[in-house]
Amino acid sequence: IVKSVLKKYFKEIFVASDGIEGIKLYQEKTPDIVLSDISMPNMNGLEMCREIKRYNPNQRIALFTGYNEIEYLKKAINMGIDKYILKPLESKQMFEALDDIVNSLKQEREQKSYKKNLEFASQHDELTGLANRGLFFTLLERLIHRSVREERSVALLAIDLNKFKPINDTYGHDVGDKFIKLLADTVKSIVRESDIVARYGGEEFVVLLHESTLEGAQKVAEKIRVAFAEKSIYVNGEHVKKSISIGVAIYPSEANTIREAIKFADVALYRAKETGRNRVIVFDQSMFKEKSY
Ligand code: GH3
Ligand code: MG
Repeated sequence: IVKSVLKKYFKEIFVASDGIEGIKLYQEKTPDIVLSDISMPNMNGLEMCREIKRYNPNQRIALFTGYNEIEYLKKAINMGIDKYILKPLESKQMFEALDDIVNSLKQEREQKSYKKNLEFASQHDELTGLANRGLFFTLLERLIHRSVREERSVALLAIDLNKFKPINDTYGHDVGDKFIKLLADTVKSIVRESDIVARYGGEEFVVLLHESTLEGAQKVAEKIRVAFAEKSIYVNGEHVKKSISIGVAIYPSEANTIREAIKFADVALYRAKETGRNRVIVFDQSMFKEKSY
């Protein structure tokens, strides 16, 4: 009877005929709300709810309670049952109880998604959706343990737009933003899903490529450089030229830590800037001897 009354209002309703079946069904379906009688064969409603609460302390539960079941009430209250629906059943009272549960579930979900959004916003760059510097280092920490254990090498790319300031100055900040977004999208479209791409600073990006050899990393970097240069951005019908420079370093190779490898990739990047821009340069130790950074 209850199912036929409620099915208009709930997406799915599953029915068990006793407590043991109820627990099995609960674990299989993980419903939002449990609605149960107290007196049931095999395992009564209170024992079933105790099991369910053990499984999920936050589970919303409403119990049908008859006047002759008052002695169970104390136990039920201690268990944290959310609502009691008195028997004989009046649908108005049942709907009020369910309304309250549904509202509190909704509120809880909104809060959770708000928190999740906040957390996402604090770890990602709004313009590109990429990991920000903070998240990049958090991800690195996890990765370092794995790489060290598996003795794999990773490659670091430092990527920077060339002569970006003049683009901003000439066409405005909004157009500049389009270039940053285009660069982020280009990098993401070329690297693997498991690689990490982060917006490291204003117009600088850092990419971590997994299991990469130097030759492999150079190829990927070159592919990014060419792909970005080939994409067109028009402002007022005028094609705006753009390019990037990339520095590459391998960890563990010459760098003792991934952080050091990032620094080396940066040194290589600035070498690319000094030697004509729009190119990929691989770090080597002599760069330190030639100039102190
Ligand atoms: P180089 O080739 O040596 O890198 O020259 P550059 O002009 O790109 O380098 P510079 O560091 O002088 O300028 C970087 C510019 O990037 C300055 C800053 O205004 C701009 N920038 C940083 N973040 C953003 C952003 O989020 N949006 C826009 N539009 N510009 C940004
Ligand atoms: Mg720049």
